[in-house]
Amino acid sequence: MRLKAHPRRVGIMGGTFDPIHHGHLVAASEVAHFFRLDEVVFVPTGRPYQKDPAEVTPAEDRYLMTVIATAENPQFRVSRMEVDREGATYTIDTLREMRRFYGPEVELFFITGADALGAILSWHNVDELFDLAHFVGCNRPGHQLTDSGLPDGKVSLVEIPALAISSTECRERVRKGEPIWYLVPDGIVRYINKTGLYLDGRSAG
Ligand code: ATP
Ligand code: MG
Repeated sequence: MRLKAHPRRVGIMGGTFDPIHHGHLVAASEVAHFFRLDEVVFVPTGRPYQKDPAEVTPAEDRYLMTVIATAENPQFRVSRMEVDREGATYTIDTLREMRRFYGPEVELFFITGADALGAILSWHNVDELFDLAHFVGCNRPGHQLTDSGLPDGKVSLVEIPALAISSTECRERVRKGEPIWYLVPDGIVRYINKTGLYLDGRSAG
């Protein structure tokens, strides 16, 4: 008798990744382990609708950094879906496209930090979002992790080793000449040094 294969489980880690840092990578790795995911797809946003386009690094740089940071992990992939999509980026479009791509059988897990989970209720088409994927919230220093107000059974909270790292702080450190070694993967330090990203006077556009 052949054992029935369990449905494929795919994590989706959306983010601006400007730059990607170890907080993102630990969250993805912990959730992959906790939910026995087959893979995690990192999806760098094209043009995040909540952020000022002039303030965000070109999508191609953020995409490349995400590839560099995840290249060594056989479970991690990067999608160009949002980078290549015209117009502002909405998570609902990404989840619909993922669902179309993977088919109805696959279990989708959308991974977020506590801050992003808290913001979800203000997102467009919340009900459809929760039908398309199971949401996973991870603790993040400085943010309260709670599923209050979110529908029962649609969201899981996962405790991960807390890393007080943000992309905003990494950008500020580079601007001030402070080190970002060990906050981001080594390849990301080198990519930022090579390109001059986040230095004063370089406009992101
Ligand atoms: P920025 O400061 O530019 O907003 P960020 O560090 O918040 O950057 P994002 O790309 O905005 O990074 O976040 C992508 C996703 O990763 C979000 O769901 C966010 O909550 C989560 N995340 C980011 N940093 C951490 C962290 N240190 N621990 C847990 N989750 C995190
Ligand atoms: Mg953020």
